[in-house]
Amino acid sequence: MSRIRRIARKAKARLTAAGRRALGRPSGPAILMYHRVNEPGFDPWELAVTPAHFDDQLAWLKRHRTVLPLVEFAERHRQDRLPHDAVAITFDDGYACNGLNAAPLLASHGLPATVFLTTGAISASHEFWWDDLERIVVGTPSTVIDLEIEGRPLAFDLGPVGSTTAPAAARQSAYTELWKAMRLLDPVVRRGLLGDLARRHGMAEAARPTHRSMTTEEVRTLVDGGVISFGAHSVNHPALSELSREDQQAEIVTSREACAALLGAAPTTFAYPFGDYSDVTVDVVREAGFAVAVTTDADVVRKDANRLRLPRLQVGDWSGRRLGAALCG
Ligand SMILES: [Zn+2]
Repeated sequence: MSRIRRIARKAKARLTAAGRRALGRPSGPAILMYHRVNEPGFDPWELAVTPAHFDDQLAWLKRHRTVLPLVEFAERHRQDRLPHDAVAITFDDGYACNGLNAAPLLASHGLPATVFLTTGAISASHEFWWDDLERIVVGTPSTVIDLEIEGRPLAFDLGPVGSTTAPAAARQSAYTELWKAMRLLDPVVRRGLLGDLARRHGMAEAARPTHRSMTTEEVRTLVDGGVISFGAHSVNHPALSELSREDQQAEIVTSREACAALLGAAPTTFAYPFGDYSDVTVDVVREAGFAVAVTTDADVVRKDANRLRLPRLQVGDWSGRRLGAALCG
């Protein structure tokens, strides 16, 4: 079994464990985490939900849950007035498809959601680095990929180009190894490496329409639409706990200011990139003025939950009924 499948299985096991915990007692309030609402393609982290499934999930939520904006969800939690069946819908990163595909479906069901913006990616011509890497490793016609990361030469046999939705194991494993090697790199260095890789492999550098991030205009249009609220998700999407306090401040405060400039008011909600945070990160988020922050820790929201470490449940490409089962059937 490839590493990527093991990682995916572990993530699923976590979710199933959370589901099982929930099954033993009445369902609790939950914050749902989405990323892309689009056809998944090759989706190593299982982050995409098709528009059809998203529509079905919203229909289920509308019928069986009290869906609240995240800010109201957190406020009612503070007041100990959170309905038992409360749900908040959130999206990480700021993909354009949140506005193009998800927002019209949310509007048609009359349900609110929050999008956490990676402010450095707004209007970017290229994709998020993890998507760019996937696009190149899975799509290159070359059977070998080689590059140097921080003076360390790396080379992988990729085998022939296969299906872009279910690539060969060699390509999946090369993707995972390169993802790990690139995760903690300086964002400018990483962008340079990916641009160079795309050029050497004769691949376009522009973002795929399915994977691009929102533009400034798209964010503004969504603000006016009233269905989507926005929170911050850092500038460059780093693993914050790996940075110094000063660098964490720069990422967190700058993303808040960028959101404030774009939205006309400072956001009060934050999502930790990769769900990665330390006690210092939580302090910095509080000092920056955020009242609510969400993690990727898989759980329902308990009465004593810390509102700067709220857990979330990642939603898969499921039917509405399956979402209902994950939320405790
Ligand atoms: Zn993210």
